[in-house]
Parts: sequence; structure tokens; C-alpha cells
Amino acid sequence: MSNDVYKRLAAKLNEYPQGFPPHPEGVELKILEMIATPQEAEIMLLFPKKAESIDSIAKSIGKPVEELQAITDEMVMKGQLETTKKNGVQMYWMPPFVVGLYEFFWLRTDKSESEQRKFSELFESWLSHADSLMTVVGLQPPYFRVVPVETDAAGEQQVQAYEDIRQVIEESRSFQVQDCMCRKQQRMVGNNCGHSLETCLHMSKEVGAYDKYPELGKIISKKEALKIIDQTEEEGLVHMTYNVVEGQTFVCNCCSCCCGMLRAMKEFKIPTAFAKSNYLATIDPDSCTACGICRDERCPMDAIVEEGGQYLVLDEKCIGCGVCSFTCPVEAISIVPKIGAQCSTPPDDKEDWTRQRAAARGVRHIE
Ligand code: SF4
Ligand code: SF4
Ligand code: SF4
Repeated sequence: MSNDVYKRLAAKLNEYPQGFPPHPEGVELKILEMIATPQEAEIMLLFPKKAESIDSIAKSIGKPVEELQAITDEMVMKGQLETTKKNGVQMYWMPPFVVGLYEFFWLRTDKSESEQRKFSELFESWLSHADSLMTVVGLQPPYFRVVPVETDAAGEQQVQAYEDIRQVIEESRSFQVQDCMCRKQQRMVGNNCGHSLETCLHMSKEVGAYDKYPELGKIISKKEALKIIDQTEEEGLVHMTYNVVEGQTFVCNCCSCCCGMLRAMKEFKIPTAFAKSNYLATIDPDSCTACGICRDERCPMDAIVEEGGQYLVLDEKCIGCGVCSFTCPVEAISIVPKIGAQCSTPPDDKEDWTRQRAAARGVRHIE
């Protein structure tokens, strides 16, 4: 009976455009067993795939609103259901596996270190299967997109609004920071890179967007959000946002030692793991003093090499993050716009992203 509910939950998750393919040894069921009890899994199955108000969900499943709200609050805190505030109304849905249930597991305070380690191992095992890896990092459009630290775009080559993280923050009204889940997960398997943990930044144009569930992260001011951006740039972390033009709600600040997406491109050579920015670094040989800082201390992708005493950028490895130019002591590095077919445009918004991903997976779009 309990195995049956996890099979049904896994099947529902695999219907999402984001997918949750079965593993030959049933690892996906063991993962779900760690996320929810059989009773909680049954409730997850009752929730919609798209955001709805609690009144609407209570009506469709025939439960009193107060009773459902109490259960929902507990399950949101356990990362089993997702929530957002839209036009002043709190909305709920069952999240996909990635990005969703997997990441939320790392926010839970009721899981012991040994449970976290086991979850981490199960996830690595699930991801090592070709179908899972392809679903997470092989399909278009990618989940995330690199946003440059700074650019040298000028004149007609204006920086697009979605490429300017400070502008996105300026236009938002609520902010929340969470611990970096990739770094937490990597620490569980013995890789402690030492980078800051409080780096996953959520933002919303709603007032008080995170007030109902303050335990899910630290609610911060706009000034504090901008300070995190400054600090992560100093630290050499890569800004990654959702791969959309409109409706940005998140910026990760990633290191190539822990971030699943950066590792997929750098270590496993998967070019579709995330969208590179529409910029490339270039080094002015006349200004460069060959100090080596950009190659040895900054570039997370090993995209800078020294040849015959000259430092060069390998375009095919450069993700356009701007981390190198930020600390060049003689400002010899420019972050310049790509041209023509080298550029990519993100989906219009999350709805459009979901539609494109559903088409790529050959599943029905969530209406
Ligand atoms: S994507 Fe980046 S910042 Fe976000 S959790 Fe992973 S490493 Fe941390
Ligand atoms: S940091 Fe600047 S000066 Fe130093 S090697 Fe790189 S480009 Fe040259
Ligand atoms: S050379 Fe490296 S650090 Fe510089 S923009 Fe490219 S990937 Fe980023």
C-alpha cells in the first residue's frame, strides 16, 4: 500500500515538464520515502500542479478550508508543498522534483545528518542514471541562466533588464535569503569548499511575500539583498537566475565546486546544463600584466589560459559571468556582448518556459 502511493507520486512527478524518470533499481521511490510519509504523499497527490488558493483546493478535494490550511502549513514547512503570494493571495501547489522537492529537502530542520547523507547518496545515485541526468541538465530550455557581474555593453548594445540583477532587485519589494543547498549537499559527501552558505536569494514584487512562512529563510531588506550581491561578487561566485525574461524571483550565487549546473558543464561536459550569458570575456594583451589572478583565483570554468606569456580566454568555455574582470588589477578584461547566432533569448516567463520544456519532453503542458 505505502509503496503504491510512492509509485503514484513518482508517476505524477514524471508528468511534469521538469520530469522525474524512474531509476532501474527504484531509487526514485526511496527518495520519495525520505521526503514524505505515506499519508503526506497522499495529500501531495491531491494538490494541483499549478498555483491555486487554499479555498479553491479545499473546494475541489472536499475538505474544510481550516483543516486543509493547517495540514498545508505543516507540509509547506517540510518542503512537500510550494507556496507563493500572488496579488495578495497565498497560493499553493505540489512542486516538481527539480527545482522543487529536492532543493526544499535541504531546508528541513527535522532531518538528522545521517538522513541528509542518505538523501544525498540516493540523489547522486538517481542522477547517475542517464534518463535522470538528461531530464535535469540535457533538455531545453535550461532551468538557469548566467547573469554577468558587470558588462562593457554600450551604445546600441544595451544590457537587457533580465541581465541586470541589481535592477531586478531594485524593482522587487520583498526579499528572503536561504542557505545554498548545493553546498549543504556537497558537505554531506565530504566536499566543503568554504564558500558562504547564505547566498540563495529570493525576491518578489509582492509586499510581504515571505511573511506567512518566515521560517523558510531569513527575511531581509533590499539593502541587505544588494549587499549579498556585492559580497558574492567579491567572493567570485557566479550569478544564476531562472532562465526567463519576465517574472524573475530568484538568484543563486554559485561555485563550480558545488553547483550541480556548473559542475555538469565543467566536469561532465554537458553544454546544455544551463544558459550561458550573452557575453564573453576578452583580454586586452596591451594592458594585461600577466599577473595570473584571473586564471588562478577567479575563473570558475578554467576558461582562461596562458600561452607564450599571454593570457587568453577560451570562448567555448567562457560562460560570460564576469567574475574575472571584477578583480583584474589593470582592468584589462572586458565583458563584451556576443553577436548574432551566439546569443540566446530566454523564454518570456515561467509559463513560456514550462510550455517549451513540456514540448521538449513530449508531455502535456500544465494548463
Ligand atoms: S544553484 Fe548555486 S547558489 Fe543555488 S544552491 Fe546550487 S550552488 Fe548554491
Ligand atoms: S587579472 Fe588582468 S592583468 Fe592579471 S593576467 Fe588576468 S587579464 Fe592579465
Ligand atoms: S573567462 Fe571565466 S570568469 Fe571570465 S567571464 Fe568567462 S567564464 Fe567567467
